[in-house]
Amino acid sequence: MPKLVRDRTLPALCPFCRAEILRPGEVEGGEWYDFAAGSCTCGAIFAHDPTARNGGAVFLQALLMVSGGDMDRAMELAEGVDYDVGYVQKYNVELHRLEPNSFGTLYFVRLRALGGD
Ligand SMILES: [Zn+2]
Repeated sequence: MPKLVRDRTLPALCPFCRAEILRPGEVEGGEWYDFAAGSCTCGAIFAHDPTARNGGAVFLQALLMVSGGDMDRAMELAEGVDYDVGYVQKYNVELHRLEPNSFGTLYFVRLRALGGD
């Protein structure tokens, strides 16, 4: 008899457009970018905090990436005005799935200008 394994994991989805995202990877071009990151087809940028302890730094990286690497510009942007943020918790980078016992967090930033209206 086949053994039924209940899969308690979920796919990692973009909080803005609900599309399944690609696994975050190493970011080229900048000593600022310490964390694995990626982008969604809707224009959102996400960065991965594997420990749930680096939150601020990971979020800042995503914000900097969405600003094209321009720190001055990143600092001028205002949440809820220029960009929106989203979080995906319990992310397991090895599975590239959401898994109840995992601590990873994906921080998403999307510029409003890219999102239309
Ligand atoms: Zn998206």
